[in-house]
Amino acid sequence: MNPPKKSIRDIDVKGKKVLVRVDFNVPLDKNRNVADDNRIRAALPTISYLLDHGARPILMSHLGRPKGQIVESLRMAPVAKKLQEDLAKPVVYLKECVGIRVQKAINKHKGSVILLENLRFYPGERDNLPDFAHQLAQLADIYCNDAFGTSHRAHASNVGIAAYLPAVMGLLMEKELETLGGLLENPDRPFVVVLGGNKVSDKLGVIDSFLDIADTILTGGGMSYTLIKSMGLEIGQSMIEEDLLGQIGATLKKARRKRVRVLVPNDFVVADRFDKTANHKIVPTEMIPKDWMGLDIGPATIETYCEAIREAKTVFWNGPMGVFEWPSFSKGTKSIAECIAGSDATTIVGGGDSDAALRQYGLDDKMDFVSTGGGAAMRLLEGKKLPAVEVLMDR
Ligand code: AMP
Repeated sequence: MNPPKKSIRDIDVKGKKVLVRVDFNVPLDKNRNVADDNRIRAALPTISYLLDHGARPILMSHLGRPKGQIVESLRMAPVAKKLQEDLAKPVVYLKECVGIRVQKAINKHKGSVILLENLRFYPGERDNLPDFAHQLAQLADIYCNDAFGTSHRAHASNVGIAAYLPAVMGLLMEKELETLGGLLENPDRPFVVVLGGNKVSDKLGVIDSFLDIADTILTGGGMSYTLIKSMGLEIGQSMIEEDLLGQIGATLKKARRKRVRVLVPNDFVVADRFDKTANHKIVPTEMIPKDWMGLDIGPATIETYCEAIREAKTVFWNGPMGVFEWPSFSKGTKSIAECIAGSDATTIVGGGDSDAALRQYGLDDKMDFVSTGGGAAMRLLEGKKLPAVEVLMDR
């Protein structure tokens, strides 16, 4: 596990310019307004804390993939507008990230929150070039990382910069590390993990980690067919990662040794092609027809999984149970989300597509914690180090 790191609460920020790496990589609608401000709202506690303690926050983020060039449609202006609304305080948007003009503007607007331009307009950002990191560092006295969602990447604004300034974490980062890290340390039992999504290759590391701590792992989605195949059953045309069959065999053996129940679906909604309007029907797992593919878990599986969730004291969920984007194959994901939302357990969701699904069903507020970082959350739960956390000051 990552060692405890210093947060903005552990240092004196009064009168200091604090350069905060936030994750404002938000979706924009066709009029270039912010379509979903979840990530902006997630950063508000840190910004408010800094303002309340007499610090001057200077915010920086990436937006989309401009690949080291200026892309007009990816400027931060709409984000600045939304942030000003959400914060109800003046926000000054600067159309650059570094240089003398930026330094002067920061000194001029002492009473405002500053938002810099899209970091990824600069090639030095993604390449983690020391020169760019150093130029960013010249803008402030303290560096704060509140962008958990990018902490598995090493860029100038979240790793390089820590070489030049005292580096601490923000309140969102702190909450993410505490909540997700706590899952691997001392969860209330029974601890039930629900894993779905596309590829089992993305989830094997997490399954391995949870085998040391969980009581039950419920699997669904695209990843479950490789598990089923490794148990010797036929899966028709369902998605599979053949090269992982051996490795999965070893994982299931470990599960038996550790007495962790790893469940696969016992029925599926199968389709005659990979299409939104495909013909579909419900079949038991051992009867998936040769030319059909599984695109959702079936009603018997929903019942079994919901029963396990009802008995849990801690539930962690990552990954949809089927192709939830298509109504005919969304029932499994929706039902499992509803069961988790209705359970008395501590409920933690690992971001990414599960987060999108929850919001689609209006259930995101019913969870105890929804991580803002899918990839970073998975890395952390695999027990891997996050480069942008490693460089922060130890407590
Ligand atoms: P992930 O990014 O790993 O969480 O995977 C999410 C994606 O997996 C979603 O876009 C789902 O549509 C897709 N998915 C889930 N179940 C299946 C399935 N049975 N066959 C194909 N794709 C699936």
